[in-house]
Parts: sequence; structure tokens; C-alpha cells
Amino acid sequence: MLGTLSCTVLACSPANRSSSSAPSPAGTLHLEPTDPASSVPGAAGVPAASPEPDPVPSRTVGVDRISRKSLIRRYSGKQPTAWGAAVPGVILRLPTTDRVVALTLDACGGPTGSGYDAELIETLRRERVPATLFVNARWIEANPGRFRRLAGNPLFEIANHGTEHRPLSVTGRSVYGIAGTSGVAQVVDEVSVNQRLIIQLTGAAPAFFRSGTAHYDDVAVRAVNDLGLQVVNFDVLGDAGATYSAAQVADALLSSKPGSIILAHMNRPDSGTAEGIEAALPRLSRRGFRFVRLSEYLR
Ligand SMILES: [Zn+2]
Repeated sequence: MLGTLSCTVLACSPANRSSSSAPSPAGTLHLEPTDPASSVPGAAGVPAASPEPDPVPSRTVGVDRISRKSLIRRYSGKQPTAWGAAVPGVILRLPTTDRVVALTLDACGGPTGSGYDAELIETLRRERVPATLFVNARWIEANPGRFRRLAGNPLFEIANHGTEHRPLSVTGRSVYGIAGTSGVAQVVDEVSVNQRLIIQLTGAAPAFFRSGTAHYDDVAVRAVNDLGLQVVNFDVLGDAGATYSAAQVADALLSSKPGSIILAHMNRPDSGTAEGIEAALPRLSRRGFRFVRLSEYLR
């Protein structure tokens, strides 16, 4: 299935480098624009990763357990041998035969991707359905209050959906017309700038990463692992980039198997996602499925 995805399926919105430097509404966060040729950018008040990061408390280790310089040295000149959404090292399912499924919701950010599906989140709260939220730095910047409330709800866990929503490549490979990162330094920045932002706001380091477009090469995946995060995609395409009707979303969820990871979106309130998920929940429950957060099965 993954090999046949159309260009509208995963690309929630193009990476828009200018968006992170656009003026922020009063009181919102502001991320410095990335300059891949020079130093690593830092989110407001967040230490930059270059050249050598300052030590941080042990509970926030991850991006700080290895320096940007060390990673560049380690992977410089390494040529990728795989590219896509299912390359070696990318987790597609939970390692279990239990009748559990993990709902993962992306919040992609950017000019067309910074909405908030309040109906979907309210349904999950009401039905006590846990989920893992993959949040992009641009979405956080546009929704700082909502982000804090979601992160403070124990029903949800926060994961990293990148800084600029770029495909993760060490060679600048593109997909769906979106330019990928063009070297190890940009791979590190795409992960670590948002990681530090989330740590700053929540006090906890996300354990999981998914790139914008969910595409990677195998060298980039290894670099993310070295930063202390697991790369998690999906085996159930839940809403096809929030383009599915409610009926299609429900059908997709009902194709889940034990250990499935479902990808849907929480940033497109005008989509069929909320209605489709709400329709599928009781039917999955009747089939004996229980929803879990990724961290309950991925260590
Ligand atoms: Zn996305």
C-alpha cells in the first residue's frame, strides 16, 4: 500500500521555510529561521545545538546525548540505499499480537496546516481514547495554548513531527514537490529544533519522530535513532492527508489488525476525519480492540 500513495496522500502541506519566520501573533512562540549553512537555529530561548550543546537535565537527554558535529562526522559521505515511507529502521506496526491499535494524529502546521480539529479531540476525550500526537513546530507556534493543554492531558502523548515539515534526506531528495533536507546537519536541525521546543514547553523529551510527508532515507533514519528517537510511520492510512470522506476514514480504521498504527490528522477540522473516527470507535471496540499510546508498546 505504501508504494502506491498518491501525491495528496501524505503531504499535509508543503514545507514552507518562510512560515517559521513570519510574524507571530502577539503572545505566540517564535522560531528563528533555519540557516543550514551556519549555526543551528534555536526556538525562543532554546539553546542551539551547535557547535556543542550545553548539558541538560538527564530527563531531557535525547538530542543532547550526541553532538551535531559528531553526527555530521559519523554520516558525512554515507550514501543512502533506501528511500520512502517504509525504509529499514522505520516502525510501521507495534510488536505485538495483542488486540491493540495505536491512533497517531499529525499536526503539520504551515499556512494551510495549522488548524485544530476540536470535534476530533473532544470525541477522544469523551470516549477516553488515548492517542499519540505528532506535532510540528509550526503548529505549536500557531497554537501555543492548545499545545500546552494537549500536552497536559494524560490521555495524549506528544511526539515530534519536525521543525519545517520536510522529508528527511541526506541528499536533498524531494517528494510530492516538497524539498527534503539536504544533509546530515539539516536532518539534525529538522529533528532537534522542534525537540528542544517541545522539551522547553513540556519538560519531557518526545521518544518518537515522524517527518513531514513520512518519507526518509535510511541514513537519515539512523541519524534520528542516534538522537535518541524512534522513527514511527504507520500501516493504516487513516485519512489520506485528511482527504478521505468520513466513510472512507471509518473503513480505513476498520481494516486495522492487532498492533496496527493508524495515521490521521488533527489539524484539518474541515475533513471527514473526526466523523469517520467517531463512527469507527464503537465498531473497533466491539471487535475487541483497545487503543494505546505508542509508548505502551515501543520502548
Ligand atoms: Zn504532516
